Amino acid sequence: MYKFTTESEEETRQLSESLGQLLIEGDVLTLDGDLGAGKTTFTKGLAKGLGVKRTVNSPTYTIIKEYRGDKKLFHMDVYRLEDSDEDIGFDEYFYGDGITVVEWSTFIKDFLPEERLEIRVEKVDEQSRVFHFEPKGNRMIRVCEELQG
Ligand code: ADP
Ligand code: MG
Repeated sequence: MYKFTTESEEETRQLSESLGQLLIEGDVLTLDGDLGAGKTTFTKGLAKGLGVKRTVNSPTYTIIKEYRGDKKLFHMDVYRLEDSDEDIGFDEYFYGDGITVVEWSTFIKDFLPEERLEIRVEKVDEQSRVFHFEPKGNRMIRVCEELQG
């Protein structure tokens, strides 16, 4: 378990931008936490770290949005799949040629790949957040070690 605390939106973006720079295609990250915790904010910084120039917004109506930067980003928000157990072809993304970020991943937990970085966002107060990183698999452990410095 790795813990990162941020005291502003900007600090969160810096954290996830640094993480983004360590990622390679095929990496899968999950983001869970209450509404307004900072999942999408985290993804915006991550996208910057991947060299994505476009603005990343929550893909509420589409479930999956794809962005091209130096590396490709697949941004999923599966909130609307809460009561569904349908596989909508997740593996094409998880094992595809980009980095996948899944907001509200508990709703599709049966479909997640074994190797992944689980991130739980805890809202402490208005400005402060704790990001709990739980790496699954050796590659993500190394990524966390490097991020921690
Ligand atoms: P989610 O996707 O989890 O619903 P968002 O990222 O859309 O959450 O929203 C997070 C909100 O919290 C934003 O309005 C952001 O400005 C605010 N915020 C305040 N402090 C922080 C912080 N330390 N990290 C991330 N967001 C923060
Ligand atoms: Mg969101």
